[in-house]
Amino acid sequence: MQIFFPKEEDHEIRATILPEVAKKFTDLGIEVLIESGLGEKVFVSDEQYVDAGAYICSEKKEGYGSADVVCKINKPNHDEIQSLKKNSIYISFLDPFNERQIVSDLAAANVSSISMELVPRITRAQKMDALSSQANLAGYAAVIEASRTLSKSFPMMMTAAGTISPARVFVVGVGVAGLQAIATAKRLGARVEAFDTRPVVEEQVKSLGGKFVKIDIGDTEETDQGYAKELTSEQIKMQQDGMKKICSQSDVIITTAQVFGRQAPRIITQDMVEAMQPGSVIVDMAVSTGGNVEGSKNDEYVFHNGVTIIGMSNLPGEVARDASQVFGSNLFNMIDEFWDKENKNINFDLDDEILKGCVITHQGSIVNESVK
Ligand code: NAD
Repeated sequence: MQIFFPKEEDHEIRATILPEVAKKFTDLGIEVLIESGLGEKVFVSDEQYVDAGAYICSEKKEGYGSADVVCKINKPNHDEIQSLKKNSIYISFLDPFNERQIVSDLAAANVSSISMELVPRITRAQKMDALSSQANLAGYAAVIEASRTLSKSFPMMMTAAGTISPARVFVVGVGVAGLQAIATAKRLGARVEAFDTRPVVEEQVKSLGGKFVKIDIGDTEETDQGYAKELTSEQIKMQQDGMKKICSQSDVIITTAQVFGRQAPRIITQDMVEAMQPGSVIVDMAVSTGGNVEGSKNDEYVFHNGVTIIGMSNLPGEVARDASQVFGSNLFNMIDEFWDKENKNINFDLDDEILKGCVITHQGSIVNESVK
């Protein structure tokens, strides 16, 4: 079996796989094909992949045409799908609820596709959970970016010239990214407050040294996978009213709120931005799914009334080497889980709970129930 790792788009800094993980694939008896230059942005040379037992190809099309499995981080374009071999397996983030054309193209091309977003949140699949591995690094990168932009120090400093108060950081949405943002801001010495619609996270916030902000928004629910359910517009209004004062007193707001498979909730309004002190910073980590903050723009720094709103869509790319390491490991763990040692291929068992959750197309049809 041959597995191909093509180069990502020009804007992507991460590489799908690093040599240490490539070696794990070759140790399984899988032939690894790498497009020349895959690791150059994370300072990994073709030679390092070759030393790990991989082969290098200089033509993307060549790899697509020969591989049994193709793995990427970002979703494929039309040409890439057309270049895939019939009955091959394609794995990447696919954004399948929004990318209907990609999904139908993959089905029409007779490709078995796996969406990394839809790996179910069960214990056995945690090692394959790329949403979490990337969100964790993104939470860290968001705080580092905020601290770089803020013209205040994060820690309190007692100096002969007087005392500098700690920065106040407010984290909205305490999932994987939010927890890492809290932990990072605390490590830097900030005073951290946080809010989430799921009350169960209160203990987690406290255990990291943060203060959980209590806002009564009525009944909230979470799915069996731990995702928040969408709030009503009345509940969002109650949340906004409850957050106004804290927002106006915060030096930094990090928003991470997401509702699975839907647009991110719009939580921070223009009024709330305008009530903040000039020089404050907001990082909208949900910018690419619609944005939690009014006025945030994908891959832009927006300045509004003295407040900087950061909308970086690829925060894991700020720590690209580590993000590549963990993404590649997620892929390896998935393939290893279903690797049939005797027949040297992937046991594509659609009755398996993990594959049932994340396989989108197979044998010419869309097979995923939630995407269908
Ligand atoms: P996510 O990216 O879907 O959302 C981020 C956070 O935003 C969530 O905590 C959500 O509750 C919150 N949110 C949604 N609407 C909001 C609003 N209006 N205001 C404030 N916050 C709002 O979430 P995630 O990071 O993927 O994690 C969700 C949960 O799943 C977490 O508790 C996490 O620990 C858990 N999880 C479990 C597994 C597993 O394998 N069991 C794996 C990953 C995550």
